Amino acid sequence: MEFEIIARCPTTRARVSRMRLAHGNTMLPTFMPVATQAAIKGLTPQQIEALGVTLILNNTYHLNLRPGIKVLEEAGGAHKFQNWPRNLLTDSGGFQLVSLSKFTKITEEGALFASPFTGEPTMLTPEESISIQHAIGADIIMQLDDVVPALSDDRARVEEAMERSVRWLDRCIAHHEQSGRKSQQNLFAIVQGGLDVDLRDRCLQQMIERKDKVAGYAIGGLSGGEAKDVFWRMISQCAAKLPEDRPRYSMGIGFAEDLLVCVALGVDMADCVFPTRTARFGVALTRKGPLNLRLAKHAADFSPIDPACPCPTCTDGTSRAMLHHIVTHETAGAHAVTLHNLVFQAQVMGRARDAIIKGAFPAYLKAFFAEFFGDAGYPRWCVDALRSVGVDLLEGKGDVPIVDGTGAKWEYAD
Ligand SMILES: [Zn+2]
Repeated sequence: MEFEIIARCPTTRARVSRMRLAHGNTMLPTFMPVATQAAIKGLTPQQIEALGVTLILNNTYHLNLRPGIKVLEEAGGAHKFQNWPRNLLTDSGGFQLVSLSKFTKITEEGALFASPFTGEPTMLTPEESISIQHAIGADIIMQLDDVVPALSDDRARVEEAMERSVRWLDRCIAHHEQSGRKSQQNLFAIVQGGLDVDLRDRCLQQMIERKDKVAGYAIGGLSGGEAKDVFWRMISQCAAKLPEDRPRYSMGIGFAEDLLVCVALGVDMADCVFPTRTARFGVALTRKGPLNLRLAKHAADFSPIDPACPCPTCTDGTSRAMLHHIVTHETAGAHAVTLHNLVFQAQVMGRARDAIIKGAFPAYLKAFFAEFFGDAGYPRWCVDALRSVGVDLLEGKGDVPIVDGTGAKWEYAD
């Protein structure tokens, strides 16, 4: 991997960088769509590439179960198997083990779980996770970490998991270095430590000591239902201390306001199933907030989702009325809204990159929040987080209400 910083925001910690991987360049900050089963639901790889997406995520846990490593190796790796010519990132499989399997038991050796197909006890070790990711052939691979739910109040368990994640990182590094795959595939460490400032610092220190052996860093263990005020402080603490010359990846972040706050705090990459999943439930993401196409008010609205949007759905004249008619019923509806939502995510990040390069990122943040939240009120945590890096969203906006919680102005009927 070649990682080059191209521009820095003089006010916030945002930066623009170029990450050169085996399957081309990816400009950061970027949002990575999630192709869980080697397919983004509703889209072909050619459609995704045509949107300008250069990096997507596959889930190791799912690909290891189906189609399995043997088939992926026969296919020549996951790029060829799914016909995706650009960059690919795989997770370690650990998160799904904890979230999907009721019977996972973590030991020092690895994660012991019952196969969802046969019920057989199966062990996923750090070495095995790296071997599977080698067979998949992703450009960026993740260490196996010991994941504890974000809301756990068992500090001893969080501390044990953090220390074990460091030990497992060492095992992943050793296994990766002797594989001969290092020039093709890039290993990222995952910072753990729950919501505890001291544990995060201890994890950061130990993982930064291993900087020469890892290509980048992820911030893990967040986006699990914790208070937003705690979330941004953890991101800020980690992003501020992680090395300047390594990409920083915040796992499981997908709301536009979360993405922009994380970018301002120094994050370069993020992924989430949210934009594609919410599309299938009939929600289009727009500059003015999410639009619930299921609502009756769209039944005779013949305008596009967003007349200024360059996505294939908005430019080919597909109306809100038509989408209201088919969304959640017909696969064509999911397809059309998924296309739109991925373009929306790409535009949020693309415009952030342009603004950082022009030295106008604070102005972009202010304009985005004004349009996205408007009179519905700014989330307090966004105001506080951006103030911490020198941007006052409320400057000249004395009459805008501040709301607690996520503040998302969901147009949901339910
Ligand atoms: Zn669109």
